[in-house]
Amino acid sequence: MCGIIGVATKNKQAISILLEGLEHLQYRGYDSAGIAFIHNNGIQIIKSQGQIEALKQKVDLTINSNLGIGHTRWATHGRATTNNAHPHQCGKITIVHNGIIENYLTLKEELQQKGCVFQSDTDTEVACALLDDYYAQYQDMKQTIRQFMKAIQGSYAIAAICMDEPNTIYAIKKDSPLLIGTSSNQNFIASDIQAILMHTNHYYLLDDLEFAIITADSTLFYNQDGIEIMKEEKEASLSANSASKACYEHYMLKEIYEQPTTLKATIETVTKLLKTNTSLLSRLASYKRIDIVACGTAMHAGLVGKYLLETYAHIPVSVELASEYRYKQNFLDPQVLVIIVSQSGETADSLAALKMVKEKHIPTLGIVNVVDSCIARSVDYVIYTQAGPEIAVASTKAYTAQVICLSLLAFSIAKQKNLLAETQIEMIEKDFEQLPELISALLANRDDYKQIATNLYSHSDIFYLGRGLDYALMQEGSLKLKEISYIHSECYPAGELKHGTISLITEKTPVIASATNSILDDKTISNLKETAARGAPIYLITNNVSLSNDPSITKYILLPSTTDFVLPILVSIPLQLIAYETALVKGCSIDKPRNLAKSVTVE
Ligand code: GLU
Repeated sequence: MCGIIGVATKNKQAISILLEGLEHLQYRGYDSAGIAFIHNNGIQIIKSQGQIEALKQKVDLTINSNLGIGHTRWATHGRATTNNAHPHQCGKITIVHNGIIENYLTLKEELQQKGCVFQSDTDTEVACALLDDYYAQYQDMKQTIRQFMKAIQGSYAIAAICMDEPNTIYAIKKDSPLLIGTSSNQNFIASDIQAILMHTNHYYLLDDLEFAIITADSTLFYNQDGIEIMKEEKEASLSANSASKACYEHYMLKEIYEQPTTLKATIETVTKLLKTNTSLLSRLASYKRIDIVACGTAMHAGLVGKYLLETYAHIPVSVELASEYRYKQNFLDPQVLVIIVSQSGETADSLAALKMVKEKHIPTLGIVNVVDSCIARSVDYVIYTQAGPEIAVASTKAYTAQVICLSLLAFSIAKQKNLLAETQIEMIEKDFEQLPELISALLANRDDYKQIATNLYSHSDIFYLGRGLDYALMQEGSLKLKEISYIHSECYPAGELKHGTISLITEKTPVIASATNSILDDKTISNLKETAARGAPIYLITNNVSLSNDPSITKYILLPSTTDFVLPILVSIPLQLIAYETALVKGCSIDKPRNLAKSVTVE
């Protein structure tokens, strides 16, 4: 994961540009950070354990510099210490790196035999030493990089400075994202355009096994053979303040409250796409099976999609974790559509699964939030969610945008296959239209969730239960609580609990459940009573008013009655707010929970 920035500038403000950029990249990792910059004809490196704030304390902002590179880390190799933080320096080369060097141990041994002494536990330092070794042989950075790309196995986005060329940054990429930003008097490299938006929205995307040479007034691109290539310049439509926290205490809270707007935008865009692109829709309707491949929260969105696609569009769906899918037998043929769901569009396992599927010529569709991201550019068809920049590490608005996308797909395919009655179609379309208002009404009751949070925060174990669609939704609710409040929670299908796990239920294990399916509600309630009989307090989300008289339930959250196509969103809002308020009472670091990073760009 981790965030990279680099700048070559004529205005001498490299240090502040690096630090400001790193703040915007912190969502990618925040266990340690560092910068390297040209000063007094040498390279000065400053690093620190912890977040960017700690690094800033060590930096003298009055120093003028015209070139530097910076890094905010999510450790993969070696603990999150100052010593292991990037940049790393070996001989004449200094680098920052995002990714994993898979053959670093073999390379390390070879370099040690040549007399190289390593200061850190990282794979990155090995990459740096290898670059230095090649540079010592070739005395030419282009040749050095070409040899390096041949020798390295794994993933890398690297920004490198060579002591002999203090006006130049080298950018090298394979499997981790890297872009080159351009403006007059200064050029940049960054993991994400957010890091440099206050300076430019013009950029080039580096593709795998390409490298770039950047100075304050030039950007040159090369393929792995060292041949210069032309790249298409892109323009980001985002503005520098589209990712601000506004008046909210946390990005997560702001993003929860943005959902009426983000869902409206996603519904409008996806509806228009599916209406105007009729050949796409008939193709989507023709597949005999769909595999939804994703990780974490996006996988949970896939579970909701499975329920809706199977129930209403009559297509069998398999939901697969990308990290497992890429290494197993998947029985693929061209009649199977693979849908990759990813907020960032750069999730390493999802991207690798996509590459594997494409090699077999299987049709692919991406549901992605970040425009022009690796996954968006690699799939056969892409549907963009309109969630806007999501900064909080725990996903909320991106998840609901993915869910509504899958819901619209299920609805459109069901309609295309004549599986819905006219009256049903009218009700569903009305629900999509009213969804933003329904969400706003739920968001207005923040006090309800605060009260639930005061009952939950002191517990160490919480159970989430549901059946069918509710089970799919509860899995995300449980993950959200774990991510930001650090309370252990488990999610079970309500009917499964008594097959073992009920042994853990006591008055100290609150149960959060949803029951929103009239056919299954009685069964769920009877399972909940089994937990109440063992003392567990029960918090129930339901759209069934008649359940609200049951004395075994501690607290209800009543939802309006809707079709299944928007219901998942309505259940998700209370789950997000319960997790948020509980983490808030506990005083947790809500936007940057421990050990996590937002876009998981390593395997
Ligand atoms: N593998 C490198 C390290 O552990 C970079 C990690 C990353 O990309 O998050 O320092």
